[in-house]
Amino acid sequence: MEKTIAIAIDGPAGAGKSSLARTVANRLDYIYVDTGALYRTIGLAFMRNGIGTDINCDIDEQLSKINIDIKFIDGVQHVFLNGEDVSEEIRTPNASMMASAVSALPAVRAFLLDMQREFAEKYNVIMDGRDIGTVVLPDAQVKIFLTASDEERANRRFKELKEKGSNVTYEEVLADMRERDYNDSHRAIAPLKPASDSAIADTTGLTIEESIELLMKIIKEKV
Ligand code: C5P
Repeated sequence: MEKTIAIAIDGPAGAGKSSLARTVANRLDYIYVDTGALYRTIGLAFMRNGIGTDINCDIDEQLSKINIDIKFIDGVQHVFLNGEDVSEEIRTPNASMMASAVSALPAVRAFLLDMQREFAEKYNVIMDGRDIGTVVLPDAQVKIFLTASDEERANRRFKELKEKGSNVTYEEVLADMRERDYNDSHRAIAPLKPASDSAIADTTGLTIEESIELLMKIIKEKV
């Protein structure tokens, strides 16, 4: 079998990983895998069963009831929880916080690991998340740590949520994002951090087009 190419993009919340990775994947004709959606789906499943961010439950029992599937419809990733398309429902602020809470559980990370690796074995992928370059695909040909200032990231997320009709304030978005980044980078297992061999891409002050060009330049140097 031909060897596939993997591009790992990690970074904090709202750094623009998914929109940039999706565009770059289209240009390169790679599959784009949004791994945050998987953690969000598990978070949603727990939430629907009345479990809060303190995760007071039998984790293995909860996981045994979860079946996650990813399908690409018109090139867009959809995620299914026990057969139901939950791609929209996992985007709420509550689902974000719940995703961050479940993602600190070793059993949850183990549950999702093979699924993520299987994609990279089958396809050329751009995969984004928090631990792709460090844990999931340590041999990825390209590793990028994408970041931007807290304020700029919160502002982008705030605008996205507003467009969807949410009535959250900028301050709430900034506070939630900082809390999530803190949790993600301080957990014991697979914390958010740049891989030692990753290129750091800071998009503060860059337009989307400039950010895409920056990523394409890093990728072209390696692939
Ligand atoms: O990328 P996104 O914001 O959708 O991720 C939601 C949450 O899922 C993150 O805050 C993080 O806690 C978790 N996550 C993770 N590892 C990944 C991707 C996401 O822990 N590879």
